[in-house]
Amino acid sequence: MDCKNASKWRFFTTFVRNFFGLMKEIDWSNLGFGYMPTDFNIRCHYKNGQWGELETSDSEMIPMHMAASCLHYSQEAFEGLKAFMGKDGKIRIFRMDENAKRMQASCDGILMPRFPVEKFTEAVKKVVELNKHFVPPYESGASLYIRPLIIGTSPQIGVAPAKEYLFIVLVMPVGPYFKGGFQTTPFCILREYDRAAPLGTGIYKIGGNYAASLVAGKRAHDLGYSNIFYLDPKEKKYIDECGAANFFGIKNNTYITPKSTSILPSITNKSLMQLAEHLGLKVERREVPVEELATFEEAGACGTAAVISPIERIDDLDKNITYRFSKDGKPGAVCTKLYEQLRGIQYGDIADPFGWVTIVE
Ligand SMILES: *Cc1c(COP(=O)(O)O)cnc(C)c1O
Repeated sequence: MDCKNASKWRFFTTFVRNFFGLMKEIDWSNLGFGYMPTDFNIRCHYKNGQWGELETSDSEMIPMHMAASCLHYSQEAFEGLKAFMGKDGKIRIFRMDENAKRMQASCDGILMPRFPVEKFTEAVKKVVELNKHFVPPYESGASLYIRPLIIGTSPQIGVAPAKEYLFIVLVMPVGPYFKGGFQTTPFCILREYDRAAPLGTGIYKIGGNYAASLVAGKRAHDLGYSNIFYLDPKEKKYIDECGAANFFGIKNNTYITPKSTSILPSITNKSLMQLAEHLGLKVERREVPVEELATFEEAGACGTAAVISPIERIDDLDKNITYRFSKDGKPGAVCTKLYEQLRGIQYGDIADPFGWVTIVE
């Protein structure tokens, strides 16, 4: 067999093995959020100043130079999005063009070459098609998580951007965020940690920001909270983000979300703002002082993982103040409505008036 046929044969055997092994192996309704191997991933190499062709791989491993710039100087950016199986048996991918554009912004932020938007969406569609029997069934409430990333791969010991890069997109089925139904959880404020600097890289989706958040996240988890609330790093006066999710509060029929130079522009938040407006709410994007938390009727953390994670209360551990957003521990009416509408669009249960979903045939 020549090289091409050998690889075709390998793909075929992988496919057959997984297709027959799958039904008994994956318990869709008990999936968590963790790595799981799937059949294929898509790769693309940047060399001599340009991106090459998309390649399909069935290997989970990458060969890597020990002096690659991603390993030493964190030249790494990533994205996270999902594909959903509808009742109609169609697979829908949510707002992948937005992820493509945000990844370009992240590349600009750490001097990596932009990955073209059309190539990004082509790679995402292709990886979903190739792994389509890993898209969890509609009834499970689970979805296929799609993780694109770009890393600097060429050796770089002086601090400078790499000359070569690798784009990869991998997928894995992930469980529903809310196992026991849509629920509120507690968060905390701890002023001794920052995730990002005011004029730093907080606005980019890059691995470095996540390394910087691990200690604070662990503290919050150890104390029994869902996650930590970061305040603006300069004055510690305004709300920034909660863990790796954006914040919003609801009062007087208004959706209010922080404006800051150190938060990541969430696509879920952007979508919720459009939905809120569509549902007749006012939308404000502005600085949100910590004390204003006392005036919100409802509050939530938002991101691809949960859509909305409604907040039960925020304990300001430095000041010994508790802000409550739920009297009975249940999510409020506005959070619930927004959540149901966005999920409905993602799964194809309700019409998509915004053109947010791409159907994979
Ligand atoms: C990814 C991410 C979010 C959520 O963004 P979505 O596009 O809604 O998933 C929020 N904050 C941080 C720091 C993130 O990395």
